[in-house]
Amino acid sequence: MRKTYFISDLHLSDDYPQITQAFFDFLAMHMNADVDALYILGDFFEVWIGDDEQSPLAISVANKLKAVAQAGINIFFTHGNRDFLLSKRYAKQAGFTLLPEQHIVDLYGTPTLVLHGDEMCTQDIAYQKFRKKSRGWWWPRLILSLPLSVRRNIARNGRAKSKANQMGKAAEILDVTPSAVLEMFERYNVAHMIHGHTHRPDVHIHEHNNKRLTRTVLGDWYSQSSYLVVNETGEQELVKDKPA
Ligand code: MN
Repeated sequence: MRKTYFISDLHLSDDYPQITQAFFDFLAMHMNADVDALYILGDFFEVWIGDDEQSPLAISVANKLKAVAQAGINIFFTHGNRDFLLSKRYAKQAGFTLLPEQHIVDLYGTPTLVLHGDEMCTQDIAYQKFRKKSRGWWWPRLILSLPLSVRRNIARNGRAKSKANQMGKAAEILDVTPSAVLEMFERYNVAHMIHGHTHRPDVHIHEHNNKRLTRTVLGDWYSQSSYLVVNETGEQELVKDKPA
């Protein structure tokens, strides 16, 4: 049976080597010949300061993903609020395709909107303001034009502060706004949406204008591995695996 996998919010970093290991275990266990595609819907990395930061973590993850891609599985990547600076060079290195922030997938006949989801957390006005600026044309260019050592310092200082900082930390605290969700369904005229970001894994059924809308929320990987698998009959299963 053909299937497609969705993951998000792994927050890969040197601080949590067990998550990296859980991800490699996930690939080894699930990325077999039955799989059509793997969608990574944002916040895959805890922080991303530029594709030129070739850390051992970035390199080992790229190598693993590249091997999966070379085995014939299509890998797609949507940016999250923490790794939105990830760009074409790393995408090529890891063998995946970068998606726009909102994208429609033909999921075995069901048009499905995939997105990170932070754009629907509209109650966090300060964050949305930062999001708008940081995804504009000049902000990424400005940041990426700084020497790598300066960007490392910015990231280190950001980590040191536990409170929300301008890289979008702790943006996950607020859930999505119901009206923003409905607006998103309407904008794309779809009945299924898959997103992450909020760390609230669940399948929500919305009845709206006599339509049955399904919103599947992926889980983070802080305490378990978590993924969604959809098979060719359209059945989906949201799985939370305790680490071995
Ligand atoms: Mn996020």
